[in-house]
Amino acid sequence: MIHEQRIRTAGFRSHPSKRILVTGGAGFLGSHLCERLVNSGQEVLCVDNFYTGTKVNLGGLLDSSRFELIRHDITFPLYVEVDEIYNLACPASPVHYQYDPVQTTKTSVHGSINMLGLAKRLNAKILLASTSEVYGDPEVHPQHESYWGRVNPIGPRSCYDEGKRCAETLFFDYRRQHNLSIKIARIFNTYGPRMLPDDGRVVSNFVVQALTDRPITIYGDGSQTRSFCFVDDLIDGLIQLMNTTDDITGPINLGNPTEFTILALAQLIVELTGSKSCIDFKPLPIDDPKQRRPNITQARQILGWTPTVSLHAGLLKTIAYFDNLLTADAIA
Ligand code: NAD
Ligand code: UDP
Ligand code: UDP
Repeated sequence: MIHEQRIRTAGFRSHPSKRILVTGGAGFLGSHLCERLVNSGQEVLCVDNFYTGTKVNLGGLLDSSRFELIRHDITFPLYVEVDEIYNLACPASPVHYQYDPVQTTKTSVHGSINMLGLAKRLNAKILLASTSEVYGDPEVHPQHESYWGRVNPIGPRSCYDEGKRCAETLFFDYRRQHNLSIKIARIFNTYGPRMLPDDGRVVSNFVVQALTDRPITIYGDGSQTRSFCFVDDLIDGLIQLMNTTDDITGPINLGNPTEFTILALAQLIVELTGSKSCIDFKPLPIDDPKQRRPNITQARQILGWTPTVSLHAGLLKTIAYFDNLLTADAIA
């Protein structure tokens, strides 16, 4: 094992730490994951091309001796030495992944091939941050891992949905062909501090609009549903999945099974912020899924994982984060 060799050479540490690569580590989920891993004593190598990630997200880590940051686009090969790989690199907001759709597909497909090639050379465990979008606009509700999904292969969301579906295929083929230890998490809508104010996803949009008393932009009539997971819960799930034995591959749904309409989300955010915002109904984007809720039986049974943070509690933390950010920006 690489880390054992390294620690033997270093010769001073009593608890061997793992060396962990996090791609997309400067993004919303990635920065929380890096922080959690470093705080638990691991060595983290964060790789990011800063497409939607920022160094600011990593503020607290940049001085840590257990943390390293490389600016790199994973669609190009990467030669480093690590024990585990969390492959999170990929823009996740529809606004950002549709801005350069070819690059989005390349990131999921070429990027995954490179990270799988790296894992193969090192015999490292590798986890894919996949998505509930692999279920598309689902006819089965709630969504169980056994559902194959209903994805439009040629629409504006396809670069993301089909990119992730192909990444899942590649993960399973590297396992079948090269016996790699793989883990696939299908992540459902997750929110929290460190989303960008202009991220474009619904929670950050509504919170920023509410805090600035601007109209809340609901796409469609707001009857579509999503199930929102607070970031801390999600990170627990990712780490628990990575730490399972090699026979556990997933895909495993990770998300909060409590479902809300987008209209109810808007009303809750207006109430919690005490905002004067009105609601502005806008056209529904093409192929926007009408309903989404994870069946998390597998996560409960295999990982012993279940989300603990309610939408109300998670939103209060998210609102406090954006409130501070907007106040600091106003002062600067
Ligand atoms: P994000 O946009 O905040 O983070 C993505 C990170 O990947 C950014 O730091 C970005 O700069 C980086 N990146 C993008 N392309 C890259 C490339 N080619 N090479 C290197 N770095 C690259 O998004 P997020 O919400 O943190 O999502 C992280 C991962 O989790 C993504 O793979 C996403 O598909 C998945 N996911 C997230 C959610 C969610 O609700 N947050 C839901 C489902 C899946
Ligand atoms: N790769 C990488 N780092 C490594 C090993 C491989 O980035 O440490 C990339 C390399 O670009 C390669 C891809 O991963 O094209 C797939 O590797 P694999 O060994 O599966 O296939 P091959 O090298 O035969 O194309
Ligand atoms: N949405 C909305 N207003 C916004 C942003 C998003 O009504 O300002 C809707 C969007 O159409 C979708 C839901 O909220 O029905 C979740 O959108 P998001 O982009 O956060 O995630 P995804 O569609 O990928 O689940």
